[in-house]
Parts: sequence; structure tokens; C-alpha cells
Amino acid sequence: MRVLVADDDLTSRRILEVILTKWGHEPTVVADGPAAALALEQPDPPRLVLLDWNMPGLLGPEVCLRIRKRETDNPPYLILLTARGEKGDVVQGLDAGANDYISKPYDLEELRARLQVGARMLELQAEIVRGRDALAFQAAHDPLTGLLNRRAVLEALDREVARAERERSALSIGVCDLDHFKKVNDAYGHPAGDEVLSAFARTALAGTRPYDSVGRHGGEEFLLIAPGTSGKPDDGVYERLREAAAATAVTTSAGVISFTVSIGVAGTWSGASATDLLAAADAALYRAKADGRNRVRYA
Ligand code: GH3
Ligand code: MG
Ligand code: MG
Repeated sequence: MRVLVADDDLTSRRILEVILTKWGHEPTVVADGPAAALALEQPDPPRLVLLDWNMPGLLGPEVCLRIRKRETDNPPYLILLTARGEKGDVVQGLDAGANDYISKPYDLEELRARLQVGARMLELQAEIVRGRDALAFQAAHDPLTGLLNRRAVLEALDREVARAERERSALSIGVCDLDHFKKVNDAYGHPAGDEVLSAFARTALAGTRPYDSVGRHGGEEFLLIAPGTSGKPDDGVYERLREAAAATAVTTSAGVISFTVSIGVAGTWSGASATDLLAAADAALYRAKADGRNRVRYA
């Protein structure tokens, strides 16, 4: 594992470098406090750190204080190397944010074991962060299509409506409902229907800009949020999506399936809530269906 060693004493540095390498670590070595702090402030720094207490520029505990002020998901594991054994000093070092300390002259076996503890703590911490990120992703995404789920896309809509109001900028949404989808399920089976839903999700994502949001609003109904567009027919974005969907042939285990989508579009207005906007888009969708499906209608 990569280990940062900070010690102003050349002999100590050399010894640590050799031992750490022998134990299979990859040491990076610096000679004072500011260099240690700088090394830890780089992107992807070593996370296991041996800090001498007495160093020019910044003392070991001062480096700890500085590093602990930074907000990060991946804080380093800091071990102070101290020639002072007195309790007061140890407390001061731990209070400054060190995880552990080793008194000099140190016992090699103890150093090895304490580094192992540090490595285990770091691995545990990384696992927790990975687990947390995975949970956050699952909570916001639809498992079938990978799009934002209903709750997340409605949250995005609330944010965008508030932003459009604040910045007096344009915003439109499109409620996209697959046409006669019940018939697709009836003819090809539910699993093939699922594949069509995923294919539509890919088509929708491929056609959107990075600041657009697309989510699965319900079973075969999707919500596209397009900041900066007015929701008038000359926008193009919704018509392009309708055309792309109609041009998509989905190869499923039950055969090749074509499908179409109807889209109801509404642009926001001053004082409109997310609910108002959705209701307007829904009314437009209803007209798209009534007018024969596979078309875009504007509120
Ligand atoms: P319309 O053109 O009026 O929208 O007709 P439709 O058949 O699409 O509308 P309806 O609301 O009657 O039926 C929606 C269908 O979508 C019925 C339901 O089984 C299907 N559906 C909803 N969620 C899923 C899903 O997750 N997977 C599959 N395969 N089908 C789904
Ligand atoms: Mg020193
Ligand atoms: Mg439908």
C-alpha cells in the first residue's frame, strides 16, 4: 500500500523507506511538515501516513490539524512518530486528529502491526463509502432501465422549476407514454416488454443533453426535463425523441419489436409549480393519444 513518510531526519527516513519497501509498501518520502501537507492535498494521495512529530515548518500534529479540516470521503490514516512519550503529548497528537502514535525508538514488529491496523481501517472505510454510494444510486434509480426513478425525477423537477423561476429561464418537460404497450406485452410477453422499456430508456438518454434529466415516471411512462427549452413546437427535442423511438427496432428473445411513443409537452410559466407543469403536460399527452398516438402535443 502507498505510505507517506514525513521525517526531517535523513537516517530515519532512509530506514523507514527500506523497511516499508521490504514489507511490500510503496513509500513516498518527504522531509518536512509543509511537504507532507502538500503531498496529502494532491488528488489521490497516499492514505497511510507516518508523521514525525518534530519537523520544520509544520509539526506533525499541525499537519494532522490541517488535513482533518479538509472534507473528504477518504480521510488518511495518520500515525505520529514521537520521541516524546509523555501522556500530555500523546493526547495533544490524538486531539489534533492522529489515529495512532508510535514512540521512538520504535519496535519494528510494533510498527509493522500498527501499519497493518491502519491498512485494515482504510479498507473498511473504503468499503463503507462504496456501500453508501451503491445504496444512494439504488435509491434514486429504476432497476430495469437504469434511469432516475419516480421519486428522483420528481425531485429533479422540483429543483428545475425552482431554478427556472429564480433565474427567469426557460424550462419544459415532456411526459412520454409508450403507445399500446399492453398489446406489446400481450403479443411478445412481459420480459420482451421490459426489453422495449430499456430500449426506449437508452434512446431517450442518447438524445438528451448532459443537463437534461430523464426518469421513469411510471410503468411505461417517462419524464423528460429539458432546462433552457420553451416547450414550443420549434424546440425539436421532443419531436426528435418521438422519431428516434419510432425508428428503433428492438431485438428481443421473442422477436424484433417496433414501438411508438406519444409525448405531452409543457413549458413552465411564472408561478407554475411542478404539479401545474405535470398537469399541463398530461393534458397535452391526452390529446396526443386522442389524435392517434405516435405524436407530440404541446400545452
Ligand atoms: P396507450 O397507448 O393508451 O398508452 O395504451 P397502453 O396499452 O400503453 O396503456 P395502458 O395504461 O392501458 O397499459 C400500460 C401497460 O404497460 C400495461 C402494463 O402491463 C404495461 N407495463 C407497465 N409497467 C411495465 C413493466 O415494467 N414491464 C412491462 N413489460 N410492462 C409494463
Ligand atoms: Mg524530527
Ligand atoms: Mg401507454
